[in-house]
Amino acid sequence: MSALEGVYLGLDLGGTLLKAAVYDPSTATQEILDSYPIGYGMELFEASGQIVQFLARQNKATIGIGLGLPGVLDHRNKLRFSPHRGELVGVDIKAGIAGVSGVWPLLDNDANCATALEAHHYPNSSVMVVNFGTGVGAGLAISGSVFKGANASFGEIGHVGHFGSEVCACKRVGCFEAELYSLLDPLSKSNGPDLEAAAELVADVLFDYIRVLDPECLVLGGGLIYSSNGLFEMVSKGLESANSTYRSGFMLRIHKATGLEYSGAIGAALLSSGVVGYVCDTIDH
Ligand SMILES: [Zn+2]
Repeated sequence: MSALEGVYLGLDLGGTLLKAAVYDPSTATQEILDSYPIGYGMELFEASGQIVQFLARQNKATIGIGLGLPGVLDHRNKLRFSPHRGELVGVDIKAGIAGVSGVWPLLDNDANCATALEAHHYPNSSVMVVNFGTGVGAGLAISGSVFKGANASFGEIGHVGHFGSEVCACKRVGCFEAELYSLLDPLSKSNGPDLEAAAELVADVLFDYIRVLDPECLVLGGGLIYSSNGLFEMVSKGLESANSTYRSGFMLRIHKATGLEYSGAIGAALLSSGVVGYVCDTIDH
């Protein structure tokens, strides 16, 4: 098999799982592989090597790897902030992946990877993506490309505001995601999870961003959105109601993420292939 017939591997590391998908440039198709449990963060490297070997046994040569990480990366592609994967902060993840795969990977924030899939799906649109996983992150797709900000830290929406007295995983008090997950934590509330208050909080926060950014489409993703708790419907209703009250005539489409749980992995594969690029990119990949 020649290198041109290979595939791009997309990986998405979350708090407990590594999700994998591939993009085949010869057919322009995406395929979901599987999810792999990752306990300690360093297990990422061995698991990545095993996935590359699995693909090789399927006669698929891995010619590129994209990896989505839960946190903020610096200009040298190291995690500089990761409340949920602190053990990987400062680790040379690029070299670690290259060491087990023979491929120098593209790294990005997991929300940006999920945004890349929406950029591919809505190439002529502006899309704000909000991902409710272990933490809450956001991304912005503009005309088929991903905007990651001057410091590669666009979209840290989980760590904004002063919404309560909860201490966040980032050590700040009152962060949006800390308050949200506190409302949904069955152990922290005597009457169980307060889904209505959680939906109201999400809609309130997102309304402000929609007001500022005015995207054509809002995409909600992450495990919290796909579970059958009705949160997606409640947030959508709250936003539609706020829009009609305060912004009469404004249009906003609201969808679940195109690739559902595998949006980040598929998007990482697309970014590594170059099919989806970046707006105003100042980072050396
Ligand atoms: Zn925080």
